Amino acid sequence: MRLDQLQPICVAGEWRLGTGARYATLYPATGEAVTELHAASADDVEAAIAGAHQAFLHSGWAQRKPHERAAVLYRVAQLIREQSEELAQLQRLDNGKPIKETRALVASAAGTFQFFAAACETLEEVITPSRGDFVTMSVYEPMGVVAAITPWNSPIASEAQKMAPALAAGNAVVVKPAEITPLAALALARICDEAGVPKGLISILPGKGSVIGDLLTRHPLVKRVSFTGGTSTGKHIARIAADKMMPVSMELGGKSPTIVLDDADLDHAVAGVLYGIFSSSGESCIAGSRLFVARPLYEQFMQRLVTGARAIRIGDPADEHTLMGPLISAAHRQSVERYVDLGLSEGGQLLTGGERPSGGIFDQGYFYTPTIIAGLGNSARLCQEEVFGPVLVAMPFDDEAELLAQANDSTYALAAGIWSRDFQRAWRLGRALQAGTVWINTYKQFSISTPFGGWRDSGLGREKGRLGILQYMEQKSLYWGLNQQPIAWAPAVQE
Ligand code: NDP
Repeated sequence: MRLDQLQPICVAGEWRLGTGARYATLYPATGEAVTELHAASADDVEAAIAGAHQAFLHSGWAQRKPHERAAVLYRVAQLIREQSEELAQLQRLDNGKPIKETRALVASAAGTFQFFAAACETLEEVITPSRGDFVTMSVYEPMGVVAAITPWNSPIASEAQKMAPALAAGNAVVVKPAEITPLAALALARICDEAGVPKGLISILPGKGSVIGDLLTRHPLVKRVSFTGGTSTGKHIARIAADKMMPVSMELGGKSPTIVLDDADLDHAVAGVLYGIFSSSGESCIAGSRLFVARPLYEQFMQRLVTGARAIRIGDPADEHTLMGPLISAAHRQSVERYVDLGLSEGGQLLTGGERPSGGIFDQGYFYTPTIIAGLGNSARLCQEEVFGPVLVAMPFDDEAELLAQANDSTYALAAGIWSRDFQRAWRLGRALQAGTVWINTYKQFSISTPFGGWRDSGLGREKGRLGILQYMEQKSLYWGLNQQPIAWAPAVQE
């Protein structure tokens, strides 16, 4: 991708300038412009959906044999791998994540296309037990045009998680990436072109969610929306979807509890808790942002945690040794700061962090130090609301029943972590915690083969997993009559 020129967007396979407002994307580590583009306009949305609909009907993609569609998607995976360094650098510029992390995200995107290619060619349709003079089958059909709306925190992986299963299922897909991080999605669409995905099946429409995302959601030809983002946006989209009776999947926010039991391996737990909250600068839906530590361990554990947090290397995302880059934007850093102020005004004590580092690159970008706050009860707003930044609240607990009640006392239920050497306790807690994912003696590990999603305000539906492809398909039952005679109910009619 040439960054020194205006970026075209992809409207039903046509690469051309958007017809919306011109804007620059910014590198969060310096605040400097990376490149410029014109956002999509309402007309572009209309053209993208109309073109996608035509491509769905006439490109023959949906009619290809599953192994033929899979072959194209395997090729997408291969091309992502061949271009992985370029994509990782692009994504670093797009959202300021450290290069080590963006490389992992690119690898995950390749793995996602490979996995859904395999899911596509191995998906089985079933013959169900017959209960009459007929053979009954359950089969799946593609839906048509589906929309994918993604946030800024892990672009290439989020987009791959929606595009790969949507295409594998035989659909056309219109992607609305976050306005401020459109580059990875555009690069992914180029790769899909190169791999042989038929023209028109993919559109990438950067622009404001309140305009472009809203138009996509309301459009009668859009048959499903797969959304990742904030809970209030997700609820807004779900309300619109209800009027259309349109299925949606929602990957939303979190306020995930991490629990350190008194028999935990402390080296593992300290490392895991630090990684769980501070990697990706805490801009992660699954960040382990509420920490519960068994009281006998609490003082010792917190000392080690604070020492570890202070040792985290913050800095230039291009540096291989950087662990934490900047936050996504100046506005988001201010929001994180307001949450820290709120926590302190609620009676919290700042154990470390709570400031902007200064000097060199720190004076340009949107950096913020790893922050730990103690002394709050679980009902404090800082313990209940998602900060989406490097802010951990820590609380001691005395017994398991009290712990469980507090850990589950959240409007969110996305993920949770348990650190314990006791298999039985970990099993008991792991089953009792209300969350879409529970990690035991590890945290923030992902596998494309394992379903992911949240309960309650954390979401609806599951992405990933072999059956993730079914989110993008309609189920249909077929009855094949085997009757030797006309249906008995009907009166006999002679010629
Ligand atoms: P937002 O909900 O603000 O935005 C997400 C996407 O939705 C963006 O592309 C945005 O566009 C778009 N959007 C905004 N308003 C509308 C609308 N009215 N109709 C349709 N689309 C709209 O979330 P953030 O970008 O702030 O991302 C952070 C949130 O995402 C956090 O809450 C986080 O927890 C959640 N998240 C959840 C994940 C999960 O898997 N559970 C993973 C990653 C993040 P625009 O470009 O204008 O912002």
